[in-house]
Amino acid sequence: MFSKELISKFEGTPTPFYYYDMALLRRTLDTLSKATAKYGYNMHYAVKANANPVILKTISDYGFGADCVSGNEVLKAIECGFNPSKVVFAGVGKSDKEINDALAHDIFCFNCESVQEIQVINQLASQCGKIARIALRLNPGIDAHTNKCINTGLEDSKFGINFNLLDQVVKEVMVLSNIKLIGLHYHIGSQILDLEPYRLLCQRSNEMQQKLQLLGLNLPEINLGGGLGVDYINPDQNPIPDFEKLLDTIHENLDVKEGQRVHFEFGRAVVAQCGTMIARTLYTKKASKTTFAIVDAGFNDLIRPALYGSYHKIENLSSVSEAEDVYDVVGPICESTDVFAQGYQMPLTQRGDLIAFRSAGAYGEIMASRYNLRDLAKAYFFD
Ligand SMILES: *Cc1c(COP(=O)(O)O)cnc(C)c1O
Repeated sequence: MFSKELISKFEGTPTPFYYYDMALLRRTLDTLSKATAKYGYNMHYAVKANANPVILKTISDYGFGADCVSGNEVLKAIECGFNPSKVVFAGVGKSDKEINDALAHDIFCFNCESVQEIQVINQLASQCGKIARIALRLNPGIDAHTNKCINTGLEDSKFGINFNLLDQVVKEVMVLSNIKLIGLHYHIGSQILDLEPYRLLCQRSNEMQQKLQLLGLNLPEINLGGGLGVDYINPDQNPIPDFEKLLDTIHENLDVKEGQRVHFEFGRAVVAQCGTMIARTLYTKKASKTTFAIVDAGFNDLIRPALYGSYHKIENLSSVSEAEDVYDVVGPICESTDVFAQGYQMPLTQRGDLIAFRSAGAYGEIMASRYNLRDLAKAYFFD
């Protein structure tokens, strides 16, 4: 994946930094475009996975919509070329200012997570003389069998409205004069590699459609959210997720009525594999049983391992050694959780070696902080 020529270009660049393979991003977007066009599905890129403006502009050029979870994401998406008529806005805790900003831009849809939130949107919409389009984000009570930190569809998760309350909530919403209910929304979790949770989600969606019909409602929009996972273990063998297989499964299992439109919100699957964090080895040292490789990137640059125990493939780009050793790869931050991997087998590693943390394009740069007053790492884009 990283040619000698490319690695030589990294030599003068201060580390750590984020490397983006824009050719891979475009191939991913081409594949996604084709897969969604097959069934006329609508894709809204989940901005929270990576909101670097260069990435956002590349994605918006494909004509996709944006899925936002804060007012600033709504504003950034629009600034980077996403059409407000394709912007959706989810989140359990939308502030009045965020709602007003979204109303001012006439976004396509608020994905709403409580009755109280909808009442507030109604009030704010009436104050500015607008009708807000909303979808109910239902919590479908489905276990996506993913990391518990990123499982969002379980019945007692904080997200969404319990699906058992649909009738009641619909009745409360229908009386609000500045709200137009246009659909139902779901998002069951992240890094989902198994199709079964999506089959269950389709079943739940079909059931909810039947309930709506009993209420005499036929809502035009069905939004199934995001969550499709990527191959963190073999990023070179599987650089592009199998979008088509997932969408085929949806097509086979989802009831779509005449005139209804189906929406998705992929984040990770779009951007994870095009990004790599490149760091440099500062020191190595041995403890009684452990050999440490101490790199110049910390969890402030890539927090997934510390936050969720996530795996990133690690490669020593400099070592020419045939011999290998087992390392705990750690960062410089003064916290014991600043560990990227434990017991990781790598070629013999020395001070100065460049170390690649693969599949870091999603939930990497965007989650960076200045903890320990460290500088924010820069991004570089290669074709
Ligand atoms: C995070 C999120 C997504 C995207 O999730 P991925 O796993 O990155 O695809 C989609 N929709 C909502 C509402 C989200 O919160």
